[in-house]
This record gives sequence, structure tokens and C-alpha cells, in this order.
Amino acid sequence: MKYVLVSGGVISGIGKGVIASSTGLLLQTTGLKVSAIKIDPYMNIDAGTMAPTEHGECFVLDDGGEVDLDLGNYERYLNVTLTREHNITTGKIYLHVIERERKGEYLGRTVQVVPHITDAIQDWIERVARIPVDDTNEEPEVCIIELGGTVGDIESAPFIEAMRQLRRRAGKGNFIQIHVSLIPVIGGEQKTKPTQAAIREARSSGLAPDLIACRCSEALTAGTINKIAMFCQVEPEDVVQVVDVGLTYRVPLLLEQQHLLRSLTGALQLDQITIPPTLS
Ligand code: ADP
Repeated sequence: MKYVLVSGGVISGIGKGVIASSTGLLLQTTGLKVSAIKIDPYMNIDAGTMAPTEHGECFVLDDGGEVDLDLGNYERYLNVTLTREHNITTGKIYLHVIERERKGEYLGRTVQVVPHITDAIQDWIERVARIPVDDTNEEPEVCIIELGGTVGDIESAPFIEAMRQLRRRAGKGNFIQIHVSLIPVIGGEQKTKPTQAAIREARSSGLAPDLIACRCSEALTAGTINKIAMFCQVEPEDVVQVVDVGLTYRVPLLLEQQHLLRSLTGALQLDQITIPPTLS
């Protein structure tokens, strides 16, 4: 199984969900079977009990699961059918671990966030990533994991540690991280400091973003891209810009114009995959 982690820094609501869905769609164009998991680091078991005025309407899946709206995005972009298990929340993970503790499955041991919660997160992802999500009933080959919130939030900490460990579990060439950041324009100048701070924060948690997706209101200058690459320790071609668009269904093309598929297939050692001529 190959994993693409989409995480975010600076602020929430900058398009992680759209970038996660678009990345999955690009991978699908090569014939790969793609699934998607959303992590929401809140204590609610699901979005069904959350005020729509605060969180947006919850999305109801075919199995009745009341989940985050992002799962609706994945289903529309990827033409897949997901289950309630494709939306992981802190509440679900803790409930699962506490139920196991009550059954005596950890008997004698102290149940802790590390390793029990972090292992439960990784086991959950490994199990759910393999669930068939289309009519072929075949196991997916790639799973997109979107981590809600921003790196550095107290709530996300166990998930971040779990992602750090999952990269090791998955093995070299099987895990890539796209970190989504924001480039504000102030007084006509594109500011890279928030992105530098966000990447520093991610690295200090043990994460290693491979690609940096920059949400911006205008095209980034070569100077801005080089600065991000230089201070965030990536190559300029690993800095992907996601400008504001009128229609978010344009985002996959926007990403592909910057050869995202080539970067992904290279990093995920999918060299045998042929990039469709319309996209190459
Ligand atoms: P996040 O997952 O980071 O919270 P979302 O993907 O849910 O963010 O996007 C938040 C909002 O921003 C949505 O309404 C989405 O349609 C909009 N959006 C995302 N990317 C873009 C873009 N490139 N241009 C314009 N609007 C966007």
C-alpha cells in the first residue's frame, strides 16, 4: 500500500481537502486504485452530533455514517464509495482503545497514548486503506490520508506521531507527505515566513514534508519559490502553487500543469506507471 499524507500548516481552511481529492484524482488517471481517509482530531465520535452552523453540514455515506464534508469531496472527485471507517476521529480511536482495555486486552499493561493510541491509529489506517471502494471490489493501491487541523495543534499530536511512525512502517518509497501552506501577499509582497515556520513546526514533530503546496492569491514569483525551497529544504520543483480558482474542480489541472503526477510517481516508486499523454 502506498500512502499520500496531506497535512496543513499556518491556518485551517486553505484547501487541504481539495488538494487531497485532486491528488487522488491525478493518481487515478494512471489506472491506480485510490482510496481516501480523513482524520478529524476532535473528540466527537462523528460529525453527526456537531452543529452545522459551526462545522458545516455533515455528509451521510451509503452505510449511514455521518462524517466530515471532505468525504463527500473524495467520493465526488474519485467516484468511490467510502465507509464510516474512512473518517477517523479522536473519539473513535479512544473509544476503540478503551473498549479493548475494558475487555482486558491490555491486561497488566499501562495503556498510554504512545504506543497504544498511536498503534491503534496506524492499525486502523492499514486495515481501512485496504477496503475496496469501487465496483471492481479490488483492494486500493494508494490511500490518501488527510490530516484535519494544522500541525502544532495539541489535538493533532497523537496523529502526527502516528504518521511519523506509519512512514517507517510503510517503508521507503511507500509514503509521501504534502504539506499545505499559505503565502499571504502584504503590501504587494509575497510572504514566505509563515510557510517557513509551518515547515519548521512539522519537522520538529518528526514529519518530513516532501512537497509543499502553497495556497496563494496570485502566481508565485521564481524568487518566492526559490526562497521557500531554500529555507524549507526541498527542491524548487517540490514547491507547488495552488492559486485561488473560481471552481475548485480546476485544482487537479492546476497541480498537473506543475507535474505533480511525475513527482508523486517518482517519490512513490511507481515508475512503471504511464502518465496519460493528455496530462504529461
Ligand atoms: P481544508 O481542508 O484545508 O479545511 P478545504 O479543502 O475544505 O480546506 O477548502 C476550504 C474552502 O476553500 C472550501 O470552500 C473550498 O472550496 C475552498 N478552496 C479550496 N481550494 C481553493 C482554491 N484553490 N481556490 C478557491 N477556493 C478554494
